[in-house]
Amino acid sequence: MKPFDYRHGRLQVEQVDLQTLAEIHGTPAYVYSAAALRANYGALAAAFGPQPHRICYAVKANGNLAVLQLLAGLGAGFDIVSVGELERVLLAGGEPERIVFSGVGKREAEMRRALEVGIGCFNVESASELRRLDRLAQALGQRAPVSLRVNPDVDAATHPYIATGLKENKFGIDIDRAAELYGQAAAMPGIRLVGIDCHIGSQLTTLAPFVDALERVLALYDRLQAQGIELAHIDVGGGLGIRYRDEQPPAAAAWVGALRERVGGRPVALWLEPGRAIVGEAGVLLTRVEYLKVQQGHHFAIVDAGMNDLLRPSLYQAWHDILPVSPRRDEPPPPAWDIVGPVCETGDFLGKQRELALAEGDLLAVMSAGAYAFTMASQYNARPRPPELLVDGAHVHVARARETLADLWAGERLADLPA
Ligand SMILES: *Cc1c(COP(=O)(O)O)cnc(C)c1O
Repeated sequence: MKPFDYRHGRLQVEQVDLQTLAEIHGTPAYVYSAAALRANYGALAAAFGPQPHRICYAVKANGNLAVLQLLAGLGAGFDIVSVGELERVLLAGGEPERIVFSGVGKREAEMRRALEVGIGCFNVESASELRRLDRLAQALGQRAPVSLRVNPDVDAATHPYIATGLKENKFGIDIDRAAELYGQAAAMPGIRLVGIDCHIGSQLTTLAPFVDALERVLALYDRLQAQGIELAHIDVGGGLGIRYRDEQPPAAAAWVGALRERVGGRPVALWLEPGRAIVGEAGVLLTRVEYLKVQQGHHFAIVDAGMNDLLRPSLYQAWHDILPVSPRRDEPPPPAWDIVGPVCETGDFLGKQRELALAEGDLLAVMSAGAYAFTMASQYNARPRPPELLVDGAHVHVARARETLADLWAGERLADLPA
């Protein structure tokens, strides 16, 4: 089953008509498919077979409470990067013991809260962070569970698109120095070593960099074991890509299969931190055409969603498919439209040169908008953020209400300025 598909000439999400959703809830709106979330998570989980594992969903991809709740219900763990994400997971019913805490800049208060609730693992990214955590944990009479995030320096010459796994990136600990730091950590009274971690980048569409990185991590694992440092898990991070346009990313089973094969018979659990691969294709941004405008031979469709709602096209020149909710028939070959938002920036676009038969008032669905979409939304231009609707079969759950105008200035105060 495709979660978003046409029936009787109209785009549906599961058993719900997107046009009906737009009439009831307005536009712009984010729409997520529960069935797609379950299928994407399930495909990853099933691929592990008997291999001990944990899937720590990366909350930064989509942190809506109902999405987290659904994934927690499937047995997911969570990868967080802030105390805000930690509290989200706890509110959604996630088990603290299944949470890993990533990020290069963890603050003391964030670490303390994570220790207090008993999170499963800190993915430590520097020697300074390790010392701070050791000190805090000792003060609380605890031993913090730690995995060092190593930077495997995956060869840029062969995989030039990798963003976070290179020596020159800010992330992780140089893999050549990691053994020494493990040795120091093993002697710290506030630290309990539990694993090794890496995360080499996002939206990867081939297996080779993952396998390269894992092989380097496994070499370190074997070396540490020979030194008497026993680790219970290897965390390969996230990064599996999805199809936005014509990419052909490996299937979940191929990704997990390749990793399992390299791990071989080692007595170690394999952990992952996928975000995009679970939620990306499970969501769309629903938007309505406000105006059509032809100027200097350029065709602009001005829609009611903008870069503040979906930043990826403006930020990364990312390509999202844009589908009409009710395709028009029997039109002459349509012009190529730039689908632009109302925000006062030339960089405010959702798609360029899209051949669509359009009229004012038409509804469009910006596809694969489940990941890094709402979480990157802002109120720029004083635009309330859209609602998030979670569809499950025929049921529609308002997972986040549309922001009100009053939400825009909540917390602001007029000043008592001298006259
Ligand atoms: C962003 C991130 C992820 C998730 O990446 P995806 O590409 O969404 O799978 C996992 N781990 C860490 C440390 C991250 O920063």
